[in-house]
Amino acid sequence: MAYLGNPTRTMAVLEKHGFRFQKKFGQNFLVDANILEKIVDAAKITKDDLVLEIGPGIGNLTQYLCESARKVIAVEIDPHLIPILADTLSAYDNVDVRQQDILKTDIAGLVEKENGGKPIKIVANLPYYITTPVLMSILENRVPLLSATVMVQKEAADRMQAGPGGKDYGALSLAIRYYTRPEIICEVPPSCFLPRPKVSSTVIRLNRCEEPPVEVLNKEQMFRIIRASFNQRRKTLVNGLHNAGIFSLSKEEIAEIVGGLYPPSVRGETLSLEEFAELSNVFSARLAKTKREK
Ligand code: SAM
Repeated sequence: MAYLGNPTRTMAVLEKHGFRFQKKFGQNFLVDANILEKIVDAAKITKDDLVLEIGPGIGNLTQYLCESARKVIAVEIDPHLIPILADTLSAYDNVDVRQQDILKTDIAGLVEKENGGKPIKIVANLPYYITTPVLMSILENRVPLLSATVMVQKEAADRMQAGPGGKDYGALSLAIRYYTRPEIICEVPPSCFLPRPKVSSTVIRLNRCEEPPVEVLNKEQMFRIIRASFNQRRKTLVNGLHNAGIFSLSKEEIAEIVGGLYPPSVRGETLSLEEFAELSNVFSARLAKTKREK
């Protein structure tokens, strides 16, 4: 069968259907068969797998996924692409294309309904503008997941792997570290896409951790603390937590708790996952004590 993953065939499909790229949807189609094969190999897809593809475009990657997986669910926001996908994927009876915004999709519910709650694999050449929200939502909403093999901007891959202190370090780095073991698969130059993006991309596989690397009493609270610290990066951790209003504690009480562990002027961006977990656990103990005393 003739795969779409080269510039000539992709152009032919786009012309046949009179398709116009929409910049707002981050549409850069992958037209390099080598990279498409690398992504599918890295995802280690078998005929047992249900694969969720985010943003199939005209189906360049979807064709490969359909060849390897038991079933592929492909969620695409752009209605103009739906009739094109019906054409390019007509040879496959194991694909279910849905016109939907992935940010408004209940992915955990979809896994429950379509795979009896058994973990799935996610594969995507992600639209750059939703990389962080979509990954955070998948990780934080307990989507049953074996792995996510995703193409992202090189800068996003750097943010995912960043450690404390640097400008790339943030809530995404900590969520990736808490929930997954990331592995870089390859770097991809702009010449592999149509149209060409301005920046390089990276394929990264996020393997779901069986056990998180730190013990935390209230994971949701730890991530609220993390978000509050990075929403106001230039502020001290005490000010960031106080301004975010996530605890019903006075600024002095917050300062006392933070100061019991770290220097009072500490910024959140210097703390490791282990330190955020420790801080969150101290807040949990303090809140539990206050509740008992009431
Ligand atoms: N998978 C195709 C490929 O590799 O050639 C296309 C990848 S392109 C980088 C991103 C795709 O995601 C586009 O088809 C775009 O329309 C779609 N998309 C953008 N935002 C989306 C959203 N919120 N939900 C679902 N799909 C989205």
